[in-house]
Amino acid sequence: MNEHISCMGCGVKIQTTDKSKIGYAPPQALNRETVICQRCYRLTHYNEIQDVSLTDDDFLKILHDIGKQKALIVKIVDIFDFNGSWISGIQRFVGSNDVLLVGNKVDLLPKSVKHHKLIHWMRMASNELGLKPLDVHLISAEKGIGIEELAKAIEHYRQGQDVYVVGCTNVGKSTFINRIIQSFGEESGHFITTSRFPGTTLDLIDIPLEDGRSLYDTPGIINHHQMAHFVNQSELKIITPNKEIKPKVYQLNERQTLFFGGLARLDFLRGESRPFVCYFSNNLYIHRTKLEKADELYEKQKGKLLIPPKNEKKEDFPSLRKNLFHMKGEKTDVVFSGLGWVTFEGNLAEIAAYVPEGVAVSLRKSLI
Ligand code: GDP
Repeated sequence: MNEHISCMGCGVKIQTTDKSKIGYAPPQALNRETVICQRCYRLTHYNEIQDVSLTDDDFLKILHDIGKQKALIVKIVDIFDFNGSWISGIQRFVGSNDVLLVGNKVDLLPKSVKHHKLIHWMRMASNELGLKPLDVHLISAEKGIGIEELAKAIEHYRQGQDVYVVGCTNVGKSTFINRIIQSFGEESGHFITTSRFPGTTLDLIDIPLEDGRSLYDTPGIINHHQMAHFVNQSELKIITPNKEIKPKVYQLNERQTLFFGGLARLDFLRGESRPFVCYFSNNLYIHRTKLEKADELYEKQKGKLLIPPKNEKKEDFPSLRKNLFHMKGEKTDVVFSGLGWVTFEGNLAEIAAYVPEGVAVSLRKSLI
């Protein structure tokens, strides 16, 4: 009978038998006009975190107001989607406040990625975007890696001030906040509350710190140029790595092409034969073909062999935009924002990288 009842909060099917499973609600909850699952109930009543969607205006107002206060800003990015998860304009809004930059999901990187190189790269990339972070940390909110060190760094750098945690949706901010609640909130013996941000309809999660200050979780902004917005939930599961990435190596001759599902493409246009090492979700299908066949193959196989996108969605999927790169010298990563990257020795090569219009593709000095 309960099969047809869905949670008003998250839409999951309600069940009343297993507390430990998703969608559980106590039987008496079914008598209410609106039924929500226990998880959503806890999110709203106990300040465990829930994503909220918000208008860009509200978000800008928050950023702007934070800039007027004295506070430490903790900015979280997804290291797998650095550009896609960057909040544009953040450098203007933080004012004179210090920023601690945090790269989340470090558990997904192959062991061969050198953390110090990644940190160095993140520093450079943020400098280029106009932001000079005080410090850069790598964590895995999900696996609990680097959390204690980060908590200590926050305590060290905040110098008696409030802390604001900012980040766009899907960077793992909720997962991180729930971890931080364990290390800051519970110990302090104060209650976590929500407080309304002045002039907006937005509730911030207010985690009390020992000296009477607070760590605030701000709502996540939706970055429309993230690859995640071009696929549905089940496709997102395919493209988002859920465990350490196992690189796949392709020895390419010039005029060969690789397709990454139907979402991205790389043409090796000119240069000597060499290995191209692909770092993508282990579940994403990679297809090699000849350059002269590539366009036709894509037309025929998009949504079939080359998925995501799924066949029924392929008409809505934006066409792939071509970006040309000339490489001289050092080992280079071609980064497909939100999807993965391809590493090769850049010695005298010409390549084309394709992504949907609106998604970023960029080069960086190899992290490996
Ligand atoms: P939010 O939208 O920023 O609040 O992000 P969530 O905390 O809801 O996380 C978004 C997705 O990233 C979820 O599928 C999480 O399971 C996943 N995630 C969060 N932190 C990590 C992490 O450290 N490692 C990995 N592999 N996945 C993570």
